[in-house]
Amino acid sequence: MNTLREPRVTVIGAGMAGSEAALAAARLGVRVDLHEQRPVRMTPAHHSDRFAELVCSNSLGGEGRNNAKGLMQAEMLAAGGVVVGSAHATRVPAGGALAVDREAFSERVTAAVRAHPGVTVHVGEVTEVPDGVVVLATGPLTSDALAEHVRRRVGEDFLGFYDAAAPVIAYDSIDHDVAYRKGRYGQEADYLNLPFDRAAYDRWYEAVAEARSHVPHDWEKLEFFEGCMPIEELARRGRDTPRFGPLKPVGLEHPVTGERFYAVAQLRQEDAAGRMWSLVGFQTGLKWGDQQTVVRTIPGLEEAEIVRYGVMHRNTYLCAPRLLEPHLALRAEPDVFVAGVLAGTEGYLESSATGWLAGTNAARRALGQPPMVPPEASMLGGLVRYLASANPEGFQPMNANWGLVPVVPKTRGGPGKRERREIAYQHGLDAFVTWLEELRVAGPVQV
Ligand SMILES: Cc1cc2nc3c(=O)[nH]c(=O)nc-3n(C[C@H](O)[C@H](O)[C@H](O)COP(=O)(O)OP(=O)(O)OC[C@H]3O[C@@H](n4cnc5c(N)ncnc54)[C@H](O)[C@@H]3O)c2cc1C
Repeated sequence: MNTLREPRVTVIGAGMAGSEAALAAARLGVRVDLHEQRPVRMTPAHHSDRFAELVCSNSLGGEGRNNAKGLMQAEMLAAGGVVVGSAHATRVPAGGALAVDREAFSERVTAAVRAHPGVTVHVGEVTEVPDGVVVLATGPLTSDALAEHVRRRVGEDFLGFYDAAAPVIAYDSIDHDVAYRKGRYGQEADYLNLPFDRAAYDRWYEAVAEARSHVPHDWEKLEFFEGCMPIEELARRGRDTPRFGPLKPVGLEHPVTGERFYAVAQLRQEDAAGRMWSLVGFQTGLKWGDQQTVVRTIPGLEEAEIVRYGVMHRNTYLCAPRLLEPHLALRAEPDVFVAGVLAGTEGYLESSATGWLAGTNAARRALGQPPMVPPEASMLGGLVRYLASANPEGFQPMNANWGLVPVVPKTRGGPGKRERREIAYQHGLDAFVTWLEELRVAGPVQV
């Protein structure tokens, strides 16, 4: 056999994304070299040599037809994903969430990947992107040497090492009788502004102070860059500090009434469709329940739905909107695919889903076939489109949520939120399953 011409794919990292990518590619008939550094080199969060180790919680998110993660789980089940399949086989009761016995889960994924005759596992750290068709899936704790190599390869500014994200709000949960459009000093009207009077500011400040008391003390020992200080840390410095920072009212008088406000919070559009808006300067490490309380004390956000909570932790991810195609290859290097957190996703489930797509498209590339992108209505299709087209300024990793796919708009007397989501779920899943059929027709049958 002429091995030079044999279609091959190299996958680096056997976590959520890499395990899925390796199996997806091997099932399409290409030879896969899967490289995993553990146990030779461990990460600060992993403890074993098993593939797809869950580094923290044991949940792959809520299930159900009105749940965005539920839709992505259903898509991955339809695609034969090893992560979601193994999760179902090892699930433990968790009241509406897909939670697993973490050891049985990782063992099952490891066994499935190792058992495939097309996959060869290599143990050891990879420090440079090799030649040929490659899937990079080394995750949020990519080893330093490889991270440095990738940073030089894609451009100094395009690899983030720290996740300092603000909550992202669903547009249709904002009270638009309160919010008004205006840019500071009136140059542009790209922002949505939420005005506080003194009493509203006091209520918000008290909520932050109460929430801060739940944050572990260790947190305060962290050193923050002045430019991305968490909102709770700003508030700790003084009652008025946020009013001279992200809540500064200067230049944000009401465009119609001319009213001046005591403080103003701003929302900036996150996605091209305008379904998701982030709170400017509100990066936070508060607990999720507390974030919701604090956000909902902001005028106009009393019923806000947070589609992505703020986080502050070490991370390694590319600025996907500057670098990636929606089929997950680098724009500048069509042989190099990226998946998981490194590609700008967040979450076990999202990492596995992008791993499946990157593995599938890497195999297609090795076989000389064009890449495929899932439909816009599907959760995976919405996520990869978002990655490739989001606002690159301050880009932060994204998880599955209803802001990524078209949902029937809210109308007076129309279907309620739950029903609108169930419609989007069915529409998305139907579109994804139809697309899978096209994918199978367009490529070799999975083995
Ligand atoms: C501390 C922490 C806690 C998290 N908690 C959660 C949570 O509770 N729920 C959730 O949904 N998400 C969580 N995440 C986010 C994220 O979803 C998970 O980290 C997820 O595992 C990411 O999948 P991945 O495939 O991108 O990376 P990983 O699953 O981390 O897989 C990457 C693999 O690449 C290997 N690797 C790294 N560098 C190299 C190299 N140079 N050569 C060879 N192999 C290499 C690693 O050893 C690892 O096995 C957390 C992240 C962190 C950092």
